Amino acid sequence: MWVLGVVVLGAFANAAEPILTDTHRFTEVRNGIYIANTTALVFNSNSLVIVNEEDVIIVDSHVTPAKARQLREAVKAVSDKPITALINSHHHWDHAHGNQEFADLPIIGHEWTHMKLATAPLEEQTYLDGVNGNARTIARVSEQIQSEEDAARKAQLEAYLEMFSAHVLDFDEIAPIPPSLTMNDKMTLHRGNREIEIMFLGRAHTGGDVVVYFPQDKLVFTGDMAFAGPSYLGDGYVDEWPDTIERLKALDFDIFVPGHGGPVTDLERLTLVQAFYRDLWAKAEMMKKAGKTAEQVAQEIDLTDHAALGIQRVGTDIKSIERIFYRIDNEL
Ligand SMILES: [Zn+2]
Repeated sequence: MWVLGVVVLGAFANAAEPILTDTHRFTEVRNGIYIANTTALVFNSNSLVIVNEEDVIIVDSHVTPAKARQLREAVKAVSDKPITALINSHHHWDHAHGNQEFADLPIIGHEWTHMKLATAPLEEQTYLDGVNGNARTIARVSEQIQSEEDAARKAQLEAYLEMFSAHVLDFDEIAPIPPSLTMNDKMTLHRGNREIEIMFLGRAHTGGDVVVYFPQDKLVFTGDMAFAGPSYLGDGYVDEWPDTIERLKALDFDIFVPGHGGPVTDLERLTLVQAFYRDLWAKAEMMKKAGKTAEQVAQEIDLTDHAALGIQRVGTDIKSIERIFYRIDNEL
């Protein structure tokens, strides 16, 4: 799921021009490791394309089977080596609902991710929120078309609505499949002279986030468990998250690629985010103990000390607070 705050990216100087296809943009971060983004103006996530000596491995399968098919096709512009595995960073729909297009390959993920995708993924609230968001976008753009008087702008909006409506229809095809190869703590793939370490560092954004660590390249793909700012907290473990980030910081790396947005080189951001989660949890817990409802806490909580993370106003989103209340009330 996506980032709530404004993400301030660390400076990232990339000498190589991105590789562009009809559907994708591939940006090389280090030595044959590319961020893959759809160029369609729809909500999606970063995939990682890892070109090894003899094969290609992909991390995260995009938002729909249609987008996943486009990704597999587009990867041919980067390498003609065979794709041999998919890794799931976590179970969220925007990272894993293209999985069925990789059913011919081993799909590697945490046991939690398996449980989530094998149980009732289309009933997950985070997925339903995404589906509802699609409907709201269609309603909003339709209204804009009605009231738009400028013909050129109206035509633009109509083209966007047509593209977006087709994307929404693609959701009908989603039949999520779970990882076929699961792990709990760590799995290492040895590909030529490259080691790819898939690591669970603790609960954070979900109960089963894994990071993909490239020790030789000093690079980590963090999925949604670490950004340059706060992540979506709706399925998160805000109380445990700072410790999980501490274990991330113990790895030897100088750049990380989050599940959305560009690479981050300003690693101090991780410390700012840890402080934010600790403060958010402590304040929400204190206010709950004082008898305040989740709605009141969401309106009144003051996190403006974290202005460096883009937080300028009192209050936060209700879903974060509801999740924290749930965590306090349920030993899970
Ligand atoms: Zn997510």
